[in-house]
Amino acid sequence: MPIPSIDSAFLLDFLAGLLNTPSPTGYTDDAVAFTEKALAAFPQIKLQRTRKGALLVTWPGEKTDSPRALTAHVDTLGAMVKEIKPNGRLRMTQLGGYPWNAVEGEGVTVITLGGKKLRGSILIQAASSHVHGAKVSSMARDAETLEIRLDERTTNEAETRALGVEVGDFVAFDPRVEITNGFVRSRHLDDKACVACLVAAVQALQAAGLKPRQTAYFLISNFEEVGHGAATGFPPEVGELVVVDMAAVGEGQTSDEYHATLCVKDSGGPYHHDLSTRLRKLADAQKIPYKVDIYPYYGSDGGALLRTGADLKVALIGPGVDASHNYERTHTDALTATTQWIMAYLLSK
Ligand SMILES: [Zn+2]
Repeated sequence: MPIPSIDSAFLLDFLAGLLNTPSPTGYTDDAVAFTEKALAAFPQIKLQRTRKGALLVTWPGEKTDSPRALTAHVDTLGAMVKEIKPNGRLRMTQLGGYPWNAVEGEGVTVITLGGKKLRGSILIQAASSHVHGAKVSSMARDAETLEIRLDERTTNEAETRALGVEVGDFVAFDPRVEITNGFVRSRHLDDKACVACLVAAVQALQAAGLKPRQTAYFLISNFEEVGHGAATGFPPEVGELVVVDMAAVGEGQTSDEYHATLCVKDSGGPYHHDLSTRLRKLADAQKIPYKVDIYPYYGSDGGALLRTGADLKVALIGPGVDASHNYERTHTDALTATTQWIMAYLLSK
C-alpha cells in the first residue's frame, strides 16, 4: 500500500511550537500539554497521562491481536539552580549529559517555584576580556566556572532570593529555532523532532482516511535524558516497540541530515534483529531514504525499557541530527523520511 503524502508545513509548524515550549527533564508538563492539544484534534485517538507525566496515546487499529508501540521523548537537556552565589549569580547542576561549553553564552529562562520566568544568560565567571585577559579562554568550562547572570538588579545572594529564586529552580536554554533552506537549526531537536514526526504521521494518515493495521500506542516520554523515560507506561500486551529518536551524525557515522537512520547497535548492545529487518524491508519497499548505523555513545528509551526485564522486540529509527546535545541541526528530508517510515510501520502487516 502506498503511504500518503506528508503535510510538511504542519510538521514544521508543530515542531517550531514544541521547540519553543521549554521542557528540561523534570519540567515537561507544558510540552506534554502542547503535544496533547495537537493530537486531541484527531477524533479516533485516545489520550491519557501516566502517573509520572508522560502521554500515552492509543490509536485503535483494524486488528488488535498484535499491538505495536512507538515512543519519542519531549524532555530535553537543561539545568537546575544548584546554588545562589555571594555575587547574586547562579551555579547550575546539569539535567542530562552535555559538554558545558555547548551552553556558554546561551540565553536562559529560570522558572521559579512561584511560576516567575526570569531571563538571563550563561557566562564563564571571568567573562570580560578587558578585565581578565588570557584567563577568559584558558579557564575550564564546568559547573564551578560557569554561572547564570540574571537580567535583574542583583549583586548579592539576598537580592537574588528576593526575586523568588531558590535552589532547585529549573533552567531552560533558549532553543534558537531557525528554519532555512529546509534546514531546521535548534537546540533540543533531540527528541522534539521525532515527536513532531509521530504527530505528522497521525495527521497524514487521518487526512487520508487511514488507520493503523494493528492497534498502536505512542508513549510521549518525559524522563529519557536521565535514563528512565519509557521504562514504564506501555500496556502489557505490547509485543514490539519502535523507538523514534535522533540519529548521531559525525565523523565515522553513516547517518546524515537528509536520511532517516536505523540504529542496529548503541551503547546498550544490538537492537532486535527481526524487527530491524522488517523496518529495512518496509523502507526498501516504500523507497524511503535511510541509512543503517551504530551509535558509539548513546542510550535510548528502548534500552531503559529492556533493562526493566520487559519481554518485547525493540528497534530504533530517527532523523540524522548534526551536533547532538549541542546547537543541533537537521533537514526536512530526514524528518520526511522518518515520518514516512513511521507510517509504513503503522500500515504494515
Ligand atoms: Zn533523545
